[in-house]
Amino acid sequence: MENIVISVAAPKGGVGKTTTAVNLTVGLALKKKKTLIIDVDPSGYCSSAFGYDEQKIFGNIIDLYKHTKNVHEVIHKTELSYLEIIPFERIGYEDEVIFNKLTLDKSILRLAIEEVKPNYDYIVLDCPPILYGTTVNSLIASDYLIIPIKSSKFSLEAVQKMMTFVKEIRKSENPNLIVDGLLLTMYELNTKASFQIKKELYRLYPNQMFKTAIPKNTSVAESTFYNKPILLFDANASASKAYANFVDELIDKHETSNLMSISGFKNGDFLDDDSNSEHSTSFSQN
Ligand code: ATP
Ligand code: MG
Repeated sequence: MENIVISVAAPKGGVGKTTTAVNLTVGLALKKKKTLIIDVDPSGYCSSAFGYDEQKIFGNIIDLYKHTKNVHEVIHKTELSYLEIIPFERIGYEDEVIFNKLTLDKSILRLAIEEVKPNYDYIVLDCPPILYGTTVNSLIASDYLIIPIKSSKFSLEAVQKMMTFVKEIRKSENPNLIVDGLLLTMYELNTKASFQIKKELYRLYPNQMFKTAIPKNTSVAESTFYNKPILLFDANASASKAYANFVDELIDKHETSNLMSISGFKNGDFLDDDSNSEHSTSFSQN
């Protein structure tokens, strides 16, 4: 058992966090890695990707925070035997405000994860596009962070904001948090903008870019209508092939040859990139 906890987070909406968390966990499960995905986003899109709606959910992350159920009572099965999910029932704005108050207790999620961590190779958390609430709780409970970056003009600012935030979390709550990598999503081959952003990211974060980039692919949107992760909807779609490669890259990084580079992250790379987070870039919003 690997017992690795990974948050998928970015302070920007619609950059592919949920799509990445969902397909990463499907890919890991297909490789027979015992995996748990935890939906910590009140929008509940991750749960619906596995066909879970309020009729089928018998307990969710809110029950954990309210102490009405323990972690074992909120774990649901998926159609893959190696993949389980803690879902989040979609809630309205008022309930979200109440829920956000519950998340001020930062230890609840961490303790729940610690309890089940020995049972899984990988636990992956799909975070909302915010830097408070469950995102903070997830980062405190995680070993690693994956930052998806949509190939668009304002993405670099989001990465820099995230890196600064990680620095804060490492200082205050979780010194062991490691930026596992930056993943380009919705990458458009043959567009100058996508290429320039990729180039700039490699310049700023040379050691933290995943080699795999996920291409923009209309089948992804289509798969959401069928409540199916793209990897299960159409394994031959370009995004599916890329997510499968990404899973291989991640497993390789964590489990085989690259133990050196992981300790490298711990010892210096993160700090190098952290200083880069102050750089201004030609893609700034102003
Ligand atoms: P939020 O911040 O709202 O939770 P998110 O960062 O989780 O968003 P997703 O929900 O994964 O982002 O993706 C946003 C939209 O982009 C969705 O409609 C999704 O279907 C689409 N999408 C994600 N990845 C791709 C891709 N590779 N190609 C085309 N569309 C994609
Ligand atoms: Mg999402």
